[in-house]
Amino acid sequence: MVEQSSNQKTERIKHAVEIAKKAHEGQFRKTGEPYIVHPLAVKKILEEWGMDEDTIIAGILHDTVEDTSLTLEDIRQEFGDSVAFLVDGVTKLSTARNGMRDIDTYLPATKDNFLRLMIALGDDIRVLIIKLADRLHNLRTLSALPPDKQKKIAKESLEVFAPLADRLNMGLLRVEMADLAFKYVDPRRFEELKNLIDKYNKSAEKSLNKIKEEVSSALKKEKISFEISGRVKSVYSLHKKLAKHNQNINEIYDLTALRIIVDDITDCYLTLGIIHSLYMPMNGRIKDYIAMPKQNGYQSLHTTVITKDKHIVEFQIRTREMHEYAERGLAASFYYNEQKLTENYKSGKIEHLPTNLLWITELQMTAAKLREGKKVDLKKLKLNLFADKIFVYTPKGDILDLPAGAMPLDFAYKLHSEIGDHVVGVKINGKMSNLNKKLEQGDIVEILTSKNQTPKSSWLDKIFTPHARAKLMRALRPDQPQTKKRQKHSK
Ligand code: MN
Repeated sequence: MVEQSSNQKTERIKHAVEIAKKAHEGQFRKTGEPYIVHPLAVKKILEEWGMDEDTIIAGILHDTVEDTSLTLEDIRQEFGDSVAFLVDGVTKLSTARNGMRDIDTYLPATKDNFLRLMIALGDDIRVLIIKLADRLHNLRTLSALPPDKQKKIAKESLEVFAPLADRLNMGLLRVEMADLAFKYVDPRRFEELKNLIDKYNKSAEKSLNKIKEEVSSALKKEKISFEISGRVKSVYSLHKKLAKHNQNINEIYDLTALRIIVDDITDCYLTLGIIHSLYMPMNGRIKDYIAMPKQNGYQSLHTTVITKDKHIVEFQIRTREMHEYAERGLAASFYYNEQKLTENYKSGKIEHLPTNLLWITELQMTAAKLREGKKVDLKKLKLNLFADKIFVYTPKGDILDLPAGAMPLDFAYKLHSEIGDHVVGVKINGKMSNLNKKLEQGDIVEILTSKNQTPKSSWLDKIFTPHARAKLMRALRPDQPQTKKRQKHSK
């Protein structure tokens, strides 16, 4: 690879901006601004993430092939194969749900659009990073769209893009996307929880400052250099947690959290010890994600303690490097390891990929094999990619994510309790099926309801998620109006 001076780099980027400006001339966004505002915002986001030059240029040009007279060939001639490849990838990705035309030539027939999309990404994960930047800016400017479009985009962001950001350990992005989107999906709930968090933080502020001081002086005594700061819980993650815990706020232990960043791993464990000597750790709440990183590569020590004045505080302890990776994820790896990583993509070597992101390599290998016409075990790939999660569709094409093992009633209750309570049957991929059938990745699920149906206690065996179970239990409670309804219907 030819080394370029930073001057040449900025020239190339400037040139891309000029070309995009010309191409989008006369086009406007729904906000009324000239269209170029959008690609420039995507450029800025990618720069903030520390992405490489080709990715930034592809970000500037990402909407040109689909929406302007500029062709892929023009881009290839002007900026080379790599940029053209990335722009092409983003263009295909935006039409993914409508059929993924080109990919059809090498992808075996599967109804699972999400899997298809992931395999398509296997070629270069930077395509996904551009798409995420694109989506982030669209979410930031969502208020300009009509309400039905707002809801659809917001929902898809919650169901697909925020989980993807999580898979890439891009923590800051996941939080911003999820909260932006959640505000449109459920505005009332968003306000309610946001107020709750603010109130909680205000009431905890004083004691939190005291805790900060106590911990700081103990760490100084041990000559550990550190930074300590509060972390605010995102509205959407609180919403998800409350659903898991029957809406019982007293079971949420990480509403208040303090983050401590230290120099090295030894200091992480020393710090944990010091905190436990100051406060009582809660049983079963110590998590060593340093020795055992999360699936997305996230590393930290977590512990929840009870202070002398009975406050519950979570501590997150990590090194600077771990912190950087937790917030920016794969993008951070590109920044620090750009050259190496890019080379490895080309040679297919895996050893320099960030911890636990080997699923990306697996995607790439699979994509390559498929293109060469080799046989691939898609079932196994699915299992590795989504061990804990499946994505299923409503007949209208909306995507819902559920834990692996979920059944039709879980799906129904996730849609709405009104739907769950009145289920009489289910069609999976167009065929009648049983309520105890486990849903699979990519299934299209159609719930059949009748207003005369009432919830049955026998359904408890046909439910997997705590969320659906809680809703069913509530409906089954004898003092609920449901009982009366049932008597009425039986007459
Ligand atoms: Mn765009």
